[in-house]
Amino acid sequence: MKLVIENGHLIDPAAPENTGMSVLIEDGRVAAWLHPGETTPQGCEVFDASGLLVAPGFIDMHVHLREPGQEHKETIASGCAAAVAGGWTSVCPMPNTDPINDNAAITRYMIEQAERAALANVFPIGAITKSSDGTELAEMGEMKAAGAVAVSDDGRPVPNAGIMRRAMQYARDFYLPVIDHCEDKSLSFGGVMHEGKFSLLLGLKGMPALAEDIDVVRDILLAKETGAHVHIAHVSTKGSVEAVRRAKNEGIHVTCEVTPHHFTLTDRAVEDLSPGADAGVRVPYDTNTKMSPPLRSEEHLEAIIEGIKDGTVDAIATDHAPHHADEKSLEYDRAPFGITGLETAVGLAFKELVNKGVISLERLVEMCSANPARILGIRDRGTLKPGSAADITVIDPYLGWTYRNVDSRSKSRNSPFDGWHFEGGVVATFVAGRLVYSRSDSV
Ligand SMILES: [Zn+2]
Repeated sequence: MKLVIENGHLIDPAAPENTGMSVLIEDGRVAAWLHPGETTPQGCEVFDASGLLVAPGFIDMHVHLREPGQEHKETIASGCAAAVAGGWTSVCPMPNTDPINDNAAITRYMIEQAERAALANVFPIGAITKSSDGTELAEMGEMKAAGAVAVSDDGRPVPNAGIMRRAMQYARDFYLPVIDHCEDKSLSFGGVMHEGKFSLLLGLKGMPALAEDIDVVRDILLAKETGAHVHIAHVSTKGSVEAVRRAKNEGIHVTCEVTPHHFTLTDRAVEDLSPGADAGVRVPYDTNTKMSPPLRSEEHLEAIIEGIKDGTVDAIATDHAPHHADEKSLEYDRAPFGITGLETAVGLAFKELVNKGVISLERLVEMCSANPARILGIRDRGTLKPGSAADITVIDPYLGWTYRNVDSRSKSRNSPFDGWHFEGGVVATFVAGRLVYSRSDSV
C-alpha cells in the first residue's frame, strides 16, 4: 500500500530545509521525500495537502486513559479516538490506573488494548514505586522491556527524597526518564485552587506555588547528584520555570512540559469562566477549572509564556484527565482534579502561542512532536525522515472551528473550553500511514 501526501507545507524540525517536499509512504513508513514536480510513483493513493501543514505525528507525553479500572471515565480505545481527533498519533498514559501500572503485565495490557483499537500508539509510563505508595521501587527494567518509556508516580509524587534519590539512580541505569508531578503535599494539603487573591475572595483553600517550586528544586538537585534525567510534569509556576532554566544552563539533565490550560487560563477562571462563546456570563465555581497543579495567577502565566518563548519549556502535554459528569458536578471542594484536553490542545496552542506571535509553527511542531520523542527516547518518531514511522498530523492553520463538549470522542466531557472558537486546527491524522481521523468525514 502506497500513499503520497503532496502539495503541503512540510514542517520537520529534523530537516527544516525540505518544506516543499511531498511525503511518500509505503508499508506504514516514510519511504522517501519527493521534490516538487517529481512524478508520483504508479499505483499511489494521493492525499492533497494544498494549503495545509504536514508535521510528524504529535506525541502527548502526559495523559490519563483510566483503563484498567475506571472504564466509565475513559477506555484506551475512547482515549485514543479523542487523541487522533486532536492530532495526537501517540499518547503516554500515566500509571494511576486501578491497579496501578507498576509491572510489566499491565504495561503490556495497555499496549495490547491500544493495538486492538488501532488508532493512536500508546507508550505507557510505569510507576516509580509499587502501587505508587512512595516506599518500594517498582520493577523498572521489566516495565521498560514491556514497552514503558518513562517512570512517574504522577498525582502521588514520591515525598521521600531518599527514595526519590534511589529511584533516580535505578532509572538512570535503565535510561528511563523520571517524570515528576512536583507537589509537596505538606504545603498543598486540602487546597483546591491556587493560593492567592482569588482563593481568598472565593473562600476556597489554596495550594501555594511554593508547594511546586520546592519539589522542582529538590528534583533538580537529585538529578544533578545522580546524573539521572528528570522531567518536570505540567510546570505551572514562575519559580519552576526559573529553576529549570537555571538547571539547564548548568548542564543538568532536566526537561519540562506545560499544559495548554496553564498557558491559557489563570485562577480568575475559578471566579468567572466565561466561555469565548458567551462572554459576559459569570460562571463561578465551575469544577472544570479545578485541576492539579491549579490554574495560577497572571505573573505565573507570564513566566510560563516566557519559558515557552526562550526554550526553557520543551514540550506541550495535555494532562488529559477524564472524569464522569456525576463526579465533576459535586461542589468545588469535593470534585476531583483534572480536565480533558486531547481535542483542544492544538486549537489553544494556535490561539495563545502561534497566532499571538509567541512561537513559530516550527517551534510548535518541535514542542508537540520532536521534543517528546527525544525526551522519551521514542525512536523513528517525531520526524518524517525516510525510514521513520508514517505518523503524520495535518493541520489547517486558518481553519475556523468551535470546540463542543458534546462532540468529544472522549467518554468524559469535563473541559472548560466548551464553546470556544479557534483559528487553526487538525484536519487529518495518519498513524502508520493509515488515515485514522479526518475532519471532513466527521462533520
Ligand atoms: Zn500530575
